[in-house]
Amino acid sequence: MHPSTRAIAIVGNGVAGLIAFATLRFLGAPTAQIAVYGDHADPLAHLRAYAAAVQQVDMRSESGGHLLPTDFPGFATLLLLRRGAVWPWLAALFDAYHPALSDVLAQGDRLRQQTALEESLVLARVGRLERREGHFVLWDEAGHWLGEHRHVLLALGHPGLAWPAAVLAVRDDPALGARIHHAYQPKAYRAGETVAVIGAGLGAAHEWLNALAAGAHVYAVWRQPPLHRPLNAPRCLFNAAGLDDYRRLPPEGRLAVLRQLGLGSYPWRLGWERQLWRARRQGRLREYAGELQAVRAHKGRLALALTDVAGENGGQKTLIVDRLVAATGFIGEVCAHPLIAQLVTDYALPLVAGHLLVADDMTLPPLSRPDSVLAVSGMLARWAYPAADSFAGMKVAARAFARQVLAPAPLRQRLANWWRLVTDRPLRA
Ligand SMILES: Cc1cc2nc3c(=O)[nH]c(=O)nc-3n(C[C@H](O)[C@H](O)[C@H](O)COP(=O)(O)OP(=O)(O)OC[C@H]3O[C@@H](n4cnc5c(N)ncnc54)[C@H](O)[C@@H]3O)c2cc1C
Repeated sequence: MHPSTRAIAIVGNGVAGLIAFATLRFLGAPTAQIAVYGDHADPLAHLRAYAAAVQQVDMRSESGGHLLPTDFPGFATLLLLRRGAVWPWLAALFDAYHPALSDVLAQGDRLRQQTALEESLVLARVGRLERREGHFVLWDEAGHWLGEHRHVLLALGHPGLAWPAAVLAVRDDPALGARIHHAYQPKAYRAGETVAVIGAGLGAAHEWLNALAAGAHVYAVWRQPPLHRPLNAPRCLFNAAGLDDYRRLPPEGRLAVLRQLGLGSYPWRLGWERQLWRARRQGRLREYAGELQAVRAHKGRLALALTDVAGENGGQKTLIVDRLVAATGFIGEVCAHPLIAQLVTDYALPLVAGHLLVADDMTLPPLSRPDSVLAVSGMLARWAYPAADSFAGMKVAARAFARQVLAPAPLRQRLANWWRLVTDRPLRA
């Protein structure tokens, strides 16, 4: 069957799309039942590029932060069984094992082949989605018909990199732009230069360490001091009881939780803290609680005007730097995705402070029906699952979608599929 008429469509060929596809395949869906729309062939392309830009080598997540459709086995158990590595397994007992990025990427590459993702892939960006009786019609960004599908999962990822407003105003100025980067863009630091890193999350922490390692001096600038948090959300939000508590909150309570998660945080790691402590003592790392107001040229360098959050220095401060790095994450406003903006306009999809009002089963209520489901995964699903932009959250979304669109294969077949996946063999088409 041509992909354009398959029953299930996944829009977005990223990590969330791969996890959803693997989950459906594990539960018994053949490739001929699923179409995956995306603008490139590698589902890990964004994660690979962003992690390389900040020189991340280990994941923030723990042993359970893997891409397989089942919870078991985690990375530590896989390493124990495959390589006889005992240390990761012991460390995982204390939540102290963090898989190597290279292991996650290798697992993703394998999973893509094992599930035969290419057989379902349609290289196209979906620009428009229409609800019809019993199915959805998809169009590309030039208005060409792409396909008709009974069920659709939107796994679009982040709409783009977020920049401070003061940087947006000058980024295209050739005299300044070459000295300005986003943390998730490639860059190279030089010994002796002065770098300002705006932000307080994991991306910022990596950039402080990268610049210091290159011999640079660093100004760490943040609105709120960074928090130390092991995962990208409090641990309770990853378990059923914590999630139930969150889902019982009124809308303003959910918003408060989501705002709190938006504040910068990074995990406490002994090696990192030691390097930061040493750099502070050497005067190579200075920290400012400030808000960036303006960026201008200053004798071949950059002058950054900050409002001093601590209220010292008359409330104003100017930093002269050679390079500015915006470690300010991703755009959080879902309507920055043209496809979501179209759905909000055409079908009055409800929004709360830039978040889609997603039902707790990850569907979009006004458009989704029991016989023709429209659901979301990844950052689009935060309203239902605050840590949705994590492998764990993507699995929750994938399983919720699968429950609604698929009669799962018998247990014996699922066990056989599971065994094939963990022993690196392909699933049957
Ligand atoms: C540096 C870094 C480290 C991280 N570490 C961890 C970690 O340790 N543990 C963890 O659980 N999570 C981690 N994350 C978070 C999370 O896993 C990533 O954000 C994840 O890569 C996002 O996957 P995604 O599929 O939602 O988005 P993406 O990977 O960006 O994929 C979305 C895809 O959809 C495509 N698309 C968008 N719109 C359309 C359209 N209209 N039509 C067709 N295709 C479209 C995009 O082009 C893209 O290919 C990390 C993230 C980063 C950046």
